[in-house]
Amino acid sequence: MSDSPHTPAITAQPHRRRTVSRRRLRVCHECDLLVALPRLAPGQKADCPRCGHTLVRRHANPAERSLALALATLTALALSVAFPFIGFELSGIGNRIELTDSASILIGLHQPLVALCVLLTVIILPLVYLLSVSWLCAGMLLGRPLPRSRQIARTLRHVTPWMMADVFVIGTLVSLIKVVGMADIELGMSFWTFCAFALLLLMTTQSVDKDWLWFSLDRRAMAPPGAVPGRTASEQNLCGCATCGLVNALPAHGKARCRRCDEPLHPWHGINNQATLALLAASVIMYLPANLYPIMVTTSLGSSSPSTIIGGVLLFIQHGDWPIAFIIFTASILVPVCKILALLWLCYIVRHEQAALSPMSRIRLYRITEFVGRWSMVDVFVVAILVALIRNGNLMSIEPGPAALAFAAVVVLTMLAAMLFDQRAIWAGATHNNNENRKEPNHV
Ligand SMILES: [Zn+2]
Ligand SMILES: [Zn+2]
Repeated sequence: MSDSPHTPAITAQPHRRRTVSRRRLRVCHECDLLVALPRLAPGQKADCPRCGHTLVRRHANPAERSLALALATLTALALSVAFPFIGFELSGIGNRIELTDSASILIGLHQPLVALCVLLTVIILPLVYLLSVSWLCAGMLLGRPLPRSRQIARTLRHVTPWMMADVFVIGTLVSLIKVVGMADIELGMSFWTFCAFALLLLMTTQSVDKDWLWFSLDRRAMAPPGAVPGRTASEQNLCGCATCGLVNALPAHGKARCRRCDEPLHPWHGINNQATLALLAASVIMYLPANLYPIMVTTSLGSSSPSTIIGGVLLFIQHGDWPIAFIIFTASILVPVCKILALLWLCYIVRHEQAALSPMSRIRLYRITEFVGRWSMVDVFVVAILVALIRNGNLMSIEPGPAALAFAAVVVLTMLAAMLFDQRAIWAGATHNNNENRKEPNHV
């Protein structure tokens, strides 16, 4: 392990006699290895030496940086809600929608759950996240945490995976390409501010250093005495908190909770994939109506034509829109199917030692599966936008089909299945001193 000034050394070897502050000990959530963080300068990050998972990422002036980004993002969101989003004009009949119409019109068309899904992922959860980050960072800048800071900091981890403003931008672009040939489209000011909002939201989530945040909320918390870096937490009867990162000693009886944030701990008790398998089974069941029923019904000059997901892809191919056909096919058909198959396969191979793939390849497969899952929501957003935008009665209007809800359920269920898959199972059979899997800590 290099000790050059550009590569901060992570202490992960039990043989190296080195006194490490208990404050610096962390458990990697992906492979369960207990590691000691080096001193990190702003701009540096520390990766797990065993699986490469980024443990912490430090920033210069973290409170000022995150607060400034969160306030800028909130401003962009306020502007996005206040102004017209897109305008649509066909044969002299015009229609202008605001961002919130993509959800409110779905409620009027008896799709309240799809509307809730759109509203939560695009506006409400990002709003909760941004207000929480602002509240926490304001406390840091004032020198003492504001009331309820711990409860608020706990919610950040649960909210982050469900924010999908960037997916909504892609959904809007696909919707526009779908209608641009048949009508005049006008991009409102809110469209541009929403693109800025999606970008700023990504920058805000990247700027939040969870490890620093929790350390600022409670500077006294440290790992239990006797914790040895370089061995897994489970073999030392320890468990890392997934919410705040503190290393906790496990009690002999009863359910364990984190000493610092009070979230339930999830100690390693061997391979248990039942929750993931149950959610995958549910998503396979929901995948059938999602593809067999129409996702939207288009009325044009008095005649209605329902279209399924695959029907929509074929229509784009007929019109020669290959790039959009590719996006919809990838997001709506390829990604959900591959995600379900990849998770099923991972559940199988972690139980079979002789099965193919090294632990590093397995964890890469899992990371890809987790990363791409949310992008499937693009088709649900396309339906929400088209339904709100095209409401010209018998001349031309679009209504949501029953597959919209089923497909949203597939996306949510597969995301939950990936979240509940315990990555530690991938490393359970691997020896943690295997240098083949080691990766030098990175410096940015
Ligand atoms: Zn790791
Ligand atoms: Zn905790």
